[in-house]
This record gives sequence, structure tokens and C-alpha cells, in this order.
Amino acid sequence: MVELAHHQIACIEALKAHFAPAACLTGTEVPKRNEADTSFLPPIVPIAVVRPDTPEGVAAAVRICANHGVSIVPQGGLTGLAGGAHPIDGAVALSLERFAGIEDIDPASATMTVRAGTPLEVIQKAAADAGFFIPLDLGARGSCVIGGNLGTNAGGNRVIRYGMAREMVLGLEYVLADGTLVSGLNKMIKNNAGYDLKQIFIGSEGTLGVITRAVLKLQPQPGVTVAALCGLSSYDAVVSLLGAARRGLGPLMSAFEVMWPDYWKEATETVPGIRKPIAGAHQFYVLVEVQGLSEAVDTPRFMSWIEEQFEAGLVEDAAISQSMADVADFWRTRDAAGEFQIVLGPHVAFDIGLPVKSMDDFARECRKRLSDAVPNALSVYYGHIGDGNIHIVALQQGAAKQPSEQISRIVYETVREFDGTVSAEHGIGTVKKPYLGFTRSKEELALMAQLKKALDPNGILNPGKVFDWPQ
Ligand SMILES: Cc1cc2nc3c(=O)[nH]c(=O)nc-3n(C[C@H](O)[C@H](O)[C@H](O)COP(=O)(O)OP(=O)(O)OC[C@H]3O[C@@H](n4cnc5c(N)ncnc54)[C@H](O)[C@@H]3O)c2cc1C
Repeated sequence: MVELAHHQIACIEALKAHFAPAACLTGTEVPKRNEADTSFLPPIVPIAVVRPDTPEGVAAAVRICANHGVSIVPQGGLTGLAGGAHPIDGAVALSLERFAGIEDIDPASATMTVRAGTPLEVIQKAAADAGFFIPLDLGARGSCVIGGNLGTNAGGNRVIRYGMAREMVLGLEYVLADGTLVSGLNKMIKNNAGYDLKQIFIGSEGTLGVITRAVLKLQPQPGVTVAALCGLSSYDAVVSLLGAARRGLGPLMSAFEVMWPDYWKEATETVPGIRKPIAGAHQFYVLVEVQGLSEAVDTPRFMSWIEEQFEAGLVEDAAISQSMADVADFWRTRDAAGEFQIVLGPHVAFDIGLPVKSMDDFARECRKRLSDAVPNALSVYYGHIGDGNIHIVALQQGAAKQPSEQISRIVYETVREFDGTVSAEHGIGTVKKPYLGFTRSKEELALMAQLKKALDPNGILNPGKVFDWPQ
């Protein structure tokens, strides 16, 4: 049991005096789930877990902690992979889990106002029930919550069409580091009255403010979804197919996912229950999906586009979906990565970004460097190519303990040489902090520190996440 300092004891007493017992858990009441996120860092017990159920409650929690000089770690669904929501020694965990629910669906503005603790899947379902569509979608949809999605500016499967999470937000409410509640629940697409403040908080991983509510843009429900799983002979063909899809499918294209053959082998041969939609061996596998408004118009349009690609020699073989079950089957090959932890064992996972044209050169170089340096190395490559984002799963096969630091350094140094980013979607948190400077210039880092200083001068909010400040 760690001994608490006077200011921490005083803070806990003030929190307990302010909140009902269910909203402030300490000591043995602290739930196991709040001791870690999904980054596999060793668990840390927060000195208290505060779970307010109103924005004013969130503001009070921040104010009390700030007044006592105690740090706060904002927590959502704890599915983050970078350690952003992982507790910090001696800090309070501020969980939004009890501030959940849909407050308003406005069909005229096509907006939905949601509380930060609402699970993404609940939001998706509420939008569908109202005849709309929320395009934000990721594997953790059942557990992650919108506050965490906006805290990380989540990406996911349909970025190529709808953009990252930040592009789906019209209004935002948040609490500043001194406990001030700032409400900007704007429903208008156009609002150029001064700075667009919400963008500072989206993607800031809980280091600049705590998001309490958001106004999300609703999209029309797709009338039809069609997909093709294609086999291609070269990376040049992949890039040409992406260009052809941009020109020929335009805004209908909702996904363009690429799998390298090493990924395909592991996904379809080691993960149980994954069917190969196309036979034969290819150099690349591409999943192209369109979401159209009309089956009668958009399905034939897609069919004739894919025929053109066969005729142009870009596609060697393709399976085309005949039903939503087929679409789901194709996605299963891409989502099989979620099972790698079980079938391949402990590994290091990356969400890097690169210019599209250099992705295959990068993959070759990275694979070679890993194989040269790490005995029995395996690295597989796949991702949202159209968004400039690839994922890598890398490991030393058969090792009792993974050489994670060595693997990370090799991958991130290669990313730096190829002018990429060390995080395309999961954020920096603590896990990627040593590598932030590989991607951001000295001037950008200085500006980030200036922003932190302006908004959180005492370093109360999620200190030590993203970068160390004061530097
Ligand atoms: C199976 C699986 C698949 C995934 N797929 C994707 C994917 O395709 N794309 C993708 O981008 N990510 C993906 N992720 C990562 C993760 O799901 C996302 O980062 C998600 O957006 C995190 O949401 P959360 O509610 O779990 O947040 P948490 O993990 O609880 O928090 C994440 C960060 O946001 C901050 N935060 C939390 N709540 C707030 C708040 N109210 N205000 C301010 N800051 C806050 C935290 O401090 C932390 O820094 C995946 C994770 C898993 C486990």
C-alpha cells in the first residue's frame, strides 16, 4: 500500500465531501478496470476514481484536484492502445462512464448531441434507429466511448470517405484545467466566428481539457454496400487501382484496404474461421468497398468499374459481394488482425502513416531491418492505404520476452527516414512518447508545449502523456 501525501489525502477528503459515494471510489473500492487501458503497461491503482454524472460534476472534480495540486487522468472506455488513459502514480482517474446517453437527435440539422461516456456502438445504433448513419467505426466499438474517440481523434474503417473523428464533430463542451466548463454545442456546419476551439481538444489525449459533450454530424444511411476482394500483382497496380477508384467511384468509395501477402498468410492460415474469398497467391490483396444510395444505380456502377479494372489488367482475380454476408466475410480477412494476440502471441503493434507511394518500399526495408537485427523475426503489413496509414504486427517468434524496444526503434527509425508519422490513429500516449520527435519538428514541439502551458499551466491534466512538460 503506497502512503499518500498530505495534499493527496486532502484532495480525496474534498472529493468525498463533494460527491455521492458511487461517484468517488477510493482504496479497495477502486475497480480493477480503471487500473489499466489496453496498452499492456503494468497496472497502476489511482488514488481515487471519480465518476461524475453531469458536466458540472466533471468541472467540480477537475477544480478540486487542481486546487490540491493533484493530477487527473481522463478515462473513457480504456480501449486506447497508446497508454493515454493509463493511470499515473498519485493521480485521480476521472472516468466519464456514468455520464452516458444521447441527449438530442435533430433531423433538421442532421446532428446528434451525445454525452462523453456513451459507447460508440450505442451512438451508431441510435443513429440507425433514427434513420441516419454515424460513420465512425472501429473494432473496439462495443467498449470505447465517444469521449475517448474524440480524445484520440480516432480513425477506423471509413476515414477515406468521411474523415477522422474530428471531421464528424460540429460542437464540443469541455472542462479546462482550472475547472471552467466551456460549452460550445454548435450545430451549424458553417461557423467562422473566431477560432475553432474544439479542434484543440480533439486528439489532445486528455492533456488540454476533459470533453463532456459533443454534437456529431449525422450522415444519410447507405442504401447499398458492395465490396470486392481483389488479388493484384504489384504495388504499382495497387496505387493505380486506388487512383482508378478515386476517379471511377468518387465519393461512393468507403474503404480501400490493402493486405501484403505476409499478412494474408497469417490471417487466412492461422486465424481460425477465416475463409479465403479468392484462391491463388497474389502479391497484394485489396478490399474495395462502396456505400451507395441506390442498389439499382450503384451496384451496376460498381460492377462495371471492376470490369474495367480487369480489362485494364490491374486486377488478377476478384470476389464480388452478392450479399451483406459476403461483405462481412471480406472484412473478416482484414479484421483477423484482432486475433493475432491469440494466434501469434505477444507482439508489438504499430499504426504508422506514410506517403502512399513509398509504402511498399518502406515495408520491404522495415522487414529486412527487422530480420537482420532480430533472430526469427516476423513482421506483417496491412492497412488503410487510401488514408496513408499502415499497421504492422512485429515479433520475435518463439521468444519468451519480446524485444519490444529494439523492434520499436527499428520501425520508428525507418518511418522517420521515409517521412512518415509514428502514429496515424492511436495517438502518442506514453508508449510512443520517445518517438514523437521523429515525426514533429522542433518548432511544432515548442508550439505544443506553449499550448499546454497556456491551457494547463500547473500540468494537472494527464501529465507525462504525449510529451513531457515543462521541458
Ligand atoms: C480491438 C481494437 C480495435 C481498435 N481499432 C482502432 C481503429 O481502427 N482506429 C483507431 O483510431 N483506434 C482503434 N483502437 C484504439 C482505441 O479503441 C481508440 O483509440 C478509441 O478511440 C479509444 O476510446 P476509449 O473510450 O477506449 O478511450 P480511452 O482508452 O479511455 O482513452 C483514450 C485517450 O483519450 C483520453 N480521454 C478519454 N476520455 C476523454 C474525455 N472525456 N476527454 C478528453 N480526453 C479523454 C484519455 O485520457 C486517453 O488519452 C482500437 C482498439 C482496440 C482494442
